[in-house]
Amino acid sequence: MPELPDVELYKRYLDQHALGPTIERVQVNDARILGELPAKTFVATLSGNRFEDSRRHGKHLLVRLQRDGWLTLHFGMTGSLAWFRDEADDPPYDRVRFDFAGGGRLAYVNRRMLGRVGLADDAERFIQAEGLGPDALDPAFDLEAFNRAIEGRRRDVKSVLMDQSLIAGIGNIYADEILFQARLHPKTAVTALIERQRAELFAQIKRVLETAIACGAGAEQFLERLPADYILPHRDKGGKCPRCGGPIATLKSGGRTSYFCPRCQPEP
Ligand SMILES: [Zn+2]
Repeated sequence: MPELPDVELYKRYLDQHALGPTIERVQVNDARILGELPAKTFVATLSGNRFEDSRRHGKHLLVRLQRDGWLTLHFGMTGSLAWFRDEADDPPYDRVRFDFAGGGRLAYVNRRMLGRVGLADDAERFIQAEGLGPDALDPAFDLEAFNRAIEGRRRDVKSVLMDQSLIAGIGNIYADEILFQARLHPKTAVTALIERQRAELFAQIKRVLETAIACGAGAEQFLERLPADYILPHRDKGGKCPRCGGPIATLKSGGRTSYFCPRCQPEP
């Protein structure tokens, strides 16, 4: 499932290719991805328009249009973007496609239909309506803001990290790495964290996400690009902890699997 680092890579990809040229044609191949938004409205808004700028908030990519607000992209479990020129290169599961002046085409690809493509009048209002907390890499999201976000949460630290209404951008995969780097067991209660542990956890949120982006790694792709002392590339069966060499353990909760090292991240 795409997480903050994946969406940051999609943002850079879109910026590199699709900012500027006029959208000559909009093709909606599967209107379900638009939810309740009529395909006709979507096509009318984007045809002849331009992508002027983009911003990412958590796992959402928001593209500012030359007129009429913003295009919003959420990638669900399997979404991505593809840029190509030749129509024959149009990838499978292309749900929405933009054809630009100059011959480039941008496809929003999503095998499963769990993502969403939409329109918004205003980016801030959209973020609010989606109930998203601060973006994990926003410079304004500092240690103080982090402490406020997790204060009094009577849950385990992993589910709090993944709660998009508290902090936007972290999913199941990167929560595991952040907890491994912070040497915290996924079941640690937030209320049990001492000040030093909170500060370390906060520092690792920033460090791990920034490192993933710098390495060009996402949550599903290119995990092998991560540093050698990261746990994520070692999650396959029989994987060994890159720090102590011990076996990596798994823990199932809420339909998701956590990977951790029981020695480096002892049970609280
Ligand atoms: Zn270990």
